[in-house]
Amino acid sequence: MRTTLSAIVLLTTLCLHVLSAASPASDAARYAAAIDQINAAHLRKPGRVTEDELRGQIPQTALRALDRVLKARPSPETADALLKCGEAALDLADMERFQRIRERLQQVDPDRPDRIGDAVARDRFLVRGIGDFEAGYLNEFANVTEAILEAYDEVFGFKEWSKVAGKKIRIRIHLVPEITRPPHFAPQYPYHSEIDMPVVDDSEFRSPTPKGQMMFYGLCHELGHLIAMWGDRDTMEDHHAWAHYTGVTIVEHMSVTPKYRGVLEKLRDAQWRSLSLERRNQGEPSMTDRAGVLATLIRLHDVAGPRSIGAALNYMEKEAMGHRINHVRYYRFKDLRQALDQTIDDRQTKAAVGEVLP
Ligand SMILES: [Zn+2]
Repeated sequence: MRTTLSAIVLLTTLCLHVLSAASPASDAARYAAAIDQINAAHLRKPGRVTEDELRGQIPQTALRALDRVLKARPSPETADALLKCGEAALDLADMERFQRIRERLQQVDPDRPDRIGDAVARDRFLVRGIGDFEAGYLNEFANVTEAILEAYDEVFGFKEWSKVAGKKIRIRIHLVPEITRPPHFAPQYPYHSEIDMPVVDDSEFRSPTPKGQMMFYGLCHELGHLIAMWGDRDTMEDHHAWAHYTGVTIVEHMSVTPKYRGVLEKLRDAQWRSLSLERRNQGEPSMTDRAGVLATLIRLHDVAGPRSIGAALNYMEKEAMGHRINHVRYYRFKDLRQALDQTIDDRQTKAAVGEVLP
């Protein structure tokens, strides 16, 4: 009797185990774990492959698990599992699978797609929109981002954008009734750099907003943070001048470059945010406050040129100068001085840089 009872208990346990092994929740967990493993392995040796290449590494067992989630009968558990899979697909910029998951989620639980949002990926970034955006919005936003990165290429020539080389930058935009905080750089994600941006208009990306918030400049500014932070977690050595400098420089460059006319039709920030405007009330170069650091950067821009600043930052990245906090690049101005010294050939320019950055 005892044997039969324990046999029944054992069988039940086994059945439960088999059941749970094939549940949408455990399948979603298996798929997400496989992607997490790929990202974690890449993090240990970043930059050798691109994110698009990483996608080829998803094991068949994980893909079969995803297939089972996609075919699971509708239930709240299946919806949860689909959400988890959707997040995982985005962690590897796997847009084709993300769209399949999203469509299925729409059938299983029409309210959930709002939480996962929609996304568009390009070579260097992924834009994710949370909220009910009109068709085409994300693509238009991606076009603006691509133009900004192109402008950064032309002006500074920064090579690696993401804090984890090879991974795409993430930009998360979310529709809010009112913007209460500006766009910000979210450094906490383990495998990529992310910019978080609230937007108020669901039909098209316009800037400034009716309340005068400079969202276009804001995006250019946040990209400056992505490239470099100064000082450490507690002390901002640049007094928050660096991202402002790169931001206004890019806004101005785009506003005077004819090919960006189309992109800038609804983005009019250059009227209020530009390098020329900063020059007008430029203070004396110093390291003591924001005005001083901004003046230092503008002086450096004039004597060495933004391409030299870009080359110095690429050098700093290549030589692993400064330090990393959660993989985010943190430098000091003495690193910049040293890098400029290494990368500028012309003796006169070198001497001029030495006067700006002692
Ligand atoms: Zn900032």
